[in-house]
Amino acid sequence: MEQTFIMIKPDGVQRGHVGEIIAFAEKHYADLSSKPFFNGLLDYIVSGPVVAMVWEGKNVVTTGRKSIGATNPTDSAPGTIRGDFAIDIGRNVIHGSDAVESARKEIGLWFPEGVANWSSILHPWIYE
Ligand code: UDP
Ligand code: MG
Repeated sequence: MEQTFIMIKPDGVQRGHVGEIIAFAEKHYADLSSKPFFNGLLDYIVSGPVVAMVWEGKNVVTTGRKSIGATNPTDSAPGTIRGDFAIDIGRNVIHGSDAVESARKEIGLWFPEGVANWSSILHPWIYE
């Protein structure tokens, strides 16, 4: 697969642009900035690529959180994503918005240009 070499040049580094990705993560987790685990959480969240998605459906915030499981995998039920795949709280494999309002903010942050408007042909077979 094709690759490219990207380098932030000395002026970019001196002017502090390297920190922009950190700032992005800081914004995502702004509500947790006073927590003792905040710095470790930022290091973790910018340590590699992530897969960002928007899920859509009735009560999807609540049902999404249920499928994801409790924050601490020790407390996540078997059958949940964290319960089945995670062990440590600081490596709990997946994020999900905790409320409709935070979902709105987070989707705006990660998808500033918006997402496609798509509707499944199965919609009437799923929803009454
Ligand atoms: N986290 C951590 N240590 C803690 C609490 C949280 O490392 O003691 C991390 C963990 O990755 C968690 C994230 O911070 O998923 C955000 O915390 P939050 O309380 O919002 O949990 P979530 O909404 O992800 O279940
Ligand atoms: Mg949260």
